[in-house]
Amino acid sequence: MLRDKNKKKMLYLLPIGEIEPYVLEHLIPSLSRTFSLPCASLKAVGIPSEAYHVRRRQYNSEVILHRLQTYRPPQGERLLGITEVDLYVSPLNFVFGQADLPGRVALISLCRLHQEFYGLASAKALFLLRTTKEAVHELGHTYGLRHCYNTKCVMHFSNSLRDTDIKSDRFCKRCQQELEDNLQMLRSPER
Ligand SMILES: [Zn+2]
Ligand SMILES: [Zn+2]
Repeated sequence: MLRDKNKKKMLYLLPIGEIEPYVLEHLIPSLSRTFSLPCASLKAVGIPSEAYHVRRRQYNSEVILHRLQTYRPPQGERLLGITEVDLYVSPLNFVFGQADLPGRVALISLCRLHQEFYGLASAKALFLLRTTKEAVHELGHTYGLRHCYNTKCVMHFSNSLRDTDIKSDRFCKRCQQELEDNLQMLRSPER
C-alpha cells in the first residue's frame, strides 16, 4: 500500500464540555513541540451522561476514555480529551487523567488543577503549567511510557497535586529516550 506523504498525522484536542479557549491556545504549541506533531483542537462534545456517578458526583474516567475512541478522526495520531468535570476510577477517589497504555486516546480533567478548587485565589500561570504536565503525562502513556521513579520527570505518578507541582513538564533523559525509540518504531516505513 502506498503511503500518502501529504497526509500528516495529527494530535487532536477534544474539549468535553466547555473549555476556555486560552487553555487550548496554551496546550496546542507546547504539545506540538513535545511530541513533534501538528496539533489542533476539535469542536467540543457534550459530557457523556452515562459516565456520571450520582452518589460520588463525579464522572467515570474509563467510560469517557472508551467513548473517545469514537471521536478520534481517521487521520488522528492521538486524541486528548479535556474536561472540567471531576474524574474517578475505582478504587481511586479521583484521577487527574487516564490513558490507554499504549493506545491512541488520553483524557485529562482540569477540575483539581485550579487553585480555586482548594479555596485559593486563581493563579493562571500555575494552572496552565499543571495542565501541560498532566497532558504530557497522559499522552506519554499512549506512547508506551510507564510511571517513572524520578520525581522531577513528567511521567512520575501524581498521587496528589503536590506531586504534580514537584514534577516538571518534561521527560527525564531515560523517558525521553524511550519516547524517541517508540516514536521511531511507530513511524518506521514498514508499518
Ligand atoms: Zn500515569
Ligand atoms: Zn522519567
